[in-house]
Amino acid sequence: MFLSGRTALVTGSTSGIGLAIARALHSEGAHIVLNGFGDEAAIADLRKEMDARHIDADLLTCEGAESLMAEAGDVDILVNNAGMQNVAPIEDFAPAKWDAIIALNLTAAFHTVRLAVPHMKRSGWGRIINTASAHSLAASPFKSAYVAAKHGLAGLTKTVALELAQTGVTANCISPGYVWTPLVEGQIPDTMKSRGLSREEVINDVLLARQPTKRFVQPEEVGALAAFLCRDEAGNITGSNYSIDGGWTAA
Ligand code: NAD
Repeated sequence: MFLSGRTALVTGSTSGIGLAIARALHSEGAHIVLNGFGDEAAIADLRKEMDARHIDADLLTCEGAESLMAEAGDVDILVNNAGMQNVAPIEDFAPAKWDAIIALNLTAAFHTVRLAVPHMKRSGWGRIINTASAHSLAASPFKSAYVAAKHGLAGLTKTVALELAQTGVTANCISPGYVWTPLVEGQIPDTMKSRGLSREEVINDVLLARQPTKRFVQPEEVGALAAFLCRDEAGNITGSNYSIDGGWTAA
């Protein structure tokens, strides 16, 4: 239980990848602070399962991010994971969707990091893990805001890593390919529309087309990588962008 006594805040952890990361850190002894939306009873079950706190702050705004950090208190591990997606050709991309995607996938991480760092520096230990994406390294058509936000998140991570290099605090990205979660399921209808394809064609010819292993990444695989990055043996890993994408970005 190498994370006993540590507190980990995982944004967007009521579902999908964030939930798997929270479970992985909890299983190593971390106190978990959950964040995200969802069914009240399901969230109550998660709180019980992990003996966790839950803060339902909306990270689309600066005020939401600030209230999350104020309520969470000192955190030793910060996982910026909350994210959203929208699929549309650039000329039809709704400006409000652009703003929301940049706000949640990029700007929220700026706010949580700037507010988490003082405690981490004082204590001489910290872990910042940002859930980026294969789209932080490569683009796909019709995902302008998401690709821009994730490339930005990778840049933010590298900058923070350099600023904190001698403090005992590391900052890294994890960049999954396609993981079967509600976020991926939710973009199937729009992709069917944008590309004029059936559901099966979207899954096999679009989503898994670029993933050479031809299988979705499992959320638990991402959780295990996040836990590894929190080990003391990972103390010299900083500013890295870890692909877990079935070979996608090797091509
Ligand atoms: P998901 O939709 O299952 O979970 C998203 C989480 O974010 C939920 O807990 C949701 O409640 C929370 N959330 C949404 N809007 C929020 C807001 N305004 N404020 C606070 N929380 C909010 O998604 P997922 O697939 O688990 O994705 C998690 C992260 O992983 C995202 O950053 C996503 O971009 C990234 N990612 C996902 C995949 C994939 O294939 N699923 C691949 C690469 C990267």
